[in-house]
Formats: sequence, structure tokens, C-alpha cells
Amino acid sequence: MVSQATTESQTPQEYAAPSTIEEALRSIADGDATILAGGTDLMLQTKPGGRLPYRRKLVNIRRIAGLRGVGEKDGRISIGALVTITDIANNELLKTAAPVLPQTADCFASGQIRNMGTVGGNICNASPAGDMIVPLLVLDAEVELSAWAKGAVATRLVPLSKFFTGPGRTVKQPNELLTRIVFARPDKKYSVGYIKSGPRPALEISTVSAALSAIRDNDKLSSVRIALGAVGPTVLRAVKAEAYLEGKTVNAQVVAETARLAAEDASPIDDVRATAWYRRHLIQVYVKRLLENDSQG
Ligand SMILES: Cc1cc2nc3c(=O)[nH]c(=O)nc-3n(C[C@H](O)[C@H](O)[C@H](O)COP(=O)(O)OP(=O)(O)OC[C@H]3O[C@@H](n4cnc5c(N)ncnc54)[C@H](O)[C@@H]3O)c2cc1C
Repeated sequence: MVSQATTESQTPQEYAAPSTIEEALRSIADGDATILAGGTDLMLQTKPGGRLPYRRKLVNIRRIAGLRGVGEKDGRISIGALVTITDIANNELLKTAAPVLPQTADCFASGQIRNMGTVGGNICNASPAGDMIVPLLVLDAEVELSAWAKGAVATRLVPLSKFFTGPGRTVKQPNELLTRIVFARPDKKYSVGYIKSGPRPALEISTVSAALSAIRDNDKLSSVRIALGAVGPTVLRAVKAEAYLEGKTVNAQVVAETARLAAEDASPIDDVRATAWYRRHLIQVYVKRLLENDSQG
């Protein structure tokens, strides 16, 4: 835990562009650094009048090769924090092992933003509407946080479901870097779907997004996970709906009750994109579609 006072201002006083994880961790060890990945969130938030001041040092992590790449080892898939949304959309391993991630990347922003924006940045920005978070939650993903402690790199794994504490807030300490995201390769019987709403299929902050994963055995569902975006202070799991659906066979009544409970699990607000009422309505529509295996949005 880092307890030193931080320095916040409109412009950083120091700049570093490390090329290894260790260098980066040493650079942020005093907890008084702002981390720059793709910059697609940060640039807007730190401009004059924006909601985030810079800390003393700006640490650009984009040169760190060790934060890139998607791989698989011992049945676990690993995605580096600097993997871009475009990389996710095009990655062959993910297309086979977890196609919901390329599918989500296809609904994300524009080509330019996908080329710059990273999955680590999407998670650390901790927006309740962060698109990559929704499918990663139903895949039971964990994030690896790394810090420089007692002269060595120390890492801890945090389940994504425990990472967010509020809008823009997480359990990550200021001296920690998110280094990668890991999850078990889904079983062949696993079915996972994702739907995002908005007036357009991409280039749109979600009004509501939803993902559902489950093992389907002759229409009987187990290991059910439902995640909802843009309907609460963080992306959230619809735990009452999940508990109800576990072990059930899909039929019209089960679908309707799951959808109703998922809407109850959420706490949407009225804002410029939609009313809370409309968001609850969309949750029900999307959960029904996902259960009926129609995730075309
Ligand atoms: C026009 C536009 C459209 C957009 N559309 C979408 C959309 O459709 N869906 C969506 O979800 N988002 C969207 N976004 C938001 C943004 O593009 C994404 O959240 C993107 O993934 C952020 O990644 P980044 O690498 O640019 O993060 P940055 O801006 O570099 O960083 C974001 C935050 O995370 C921190 N951070 C970054 N990487 C790390 C790390 N490895 N360890 C610790 N902290 C880190 C930074 O310090 C900062 O606080 C959009 C943004 C714009 C400008």
C-alpha cells in the first residue's frame, strides 16, 4: 500500500517511457504517476477542465513489449494489458477460444480508437459502460496487478468481479500496473453471447450492454454468468438472475423470469442517453435474446 502524498496538476512535471515492466514499476513505485496506454480516455480526461489532473510524472507504457500479446498456457488464456481493441478483433486464438471478445471488439468505437485503445486501459478506466469488461466478467476473468516491492516485481491476481469499486474507481493501488488479463479457456459446451445497444452498432457509448455465458447441456444451463453494462455504478453481475437460472431448462417462463430478475439486479439512472425505465426494458429484451441464442444486437 502506497501512502505518500500525490502531486496533482494540469501538466506533468516529469515524463518517462520505459521499455520493460520492471522499469515501469520502479518508475511508478512512489504512487505519484499517471499511466498512459493508448490515451483515448486519458487525453479527454486530463485536458483543461477535464475531470482528472495529472500526477507528478507521466509514464508512457506503450513501448513495453512484455505487455503485449495473447497466449495460452495450461488451459489459461492470457491477454497483455497493451493489447489493442483491433488486436482483439483480429486475434485467431480468441476467435476460436473466446469469440465473444472479437465480437465485442467489433462493436467498439471507430477504427482509429480501436487501433489506439487497449484492453488494460478499458478496464482501468472503470467506466460502467466499458465494453470489454462485460464479456470478460462472464468469462470469470482475473486481472494481474504488478508492483515494485522490496527490490522485486510482486504480482497479485484479482477477480474482475472484485476489481471495481465505483465509477472510475478500482482496487488497483497507485503504484500498481495492470499487466495482463487471464481466464480459463471455456469448455466446448460453453455458450457466450454479447449485445450492445446504441443508435448505431459501433461508434457509440453503450446505453445498455449485456453478456451471458453458460454451459448448455440439452438446453439445461449450468455455470450461468450474466453481466450488464451502463446500468449501475460499475459493470455488474446480475446475481439474482444467475442464481434463478442455474440448473434450469430454458422455456418461455424461465426466460421471462430471468429477464425480470436481471432488470431487478440493475440500478440504472436517467441520463442523456436513456431513461432508467428504458434501460430496464432493454435489459429484459437483451437477456431474453441471449437466452434464445440470438446475440445479433
Ligand atoms: C471517440 C471515442 C469512442 C469510444 N468508444 C468506446 C466504446 O465504444 N466502448 C468503450 O468501452 N470505450 C470507448 N471509448 C473509451 C476508450 O477508447 C476505451 O476505454 C479504451 O479502451 C481506453 O484504452 P486506452 O489504452 O486508450 O487507455 P488510456 O486512455 O491510456 O488510459 C485509461 C485509464 O487507464 C489507466 N491505465 C491504462 N492502462 C493501464 C495499465 N496497464 N495499468 C494501470 N493503469 C492503466 C490510465 O492511467 C487511465 O486512467 C471511446 C473513446 C473515444 C474517445
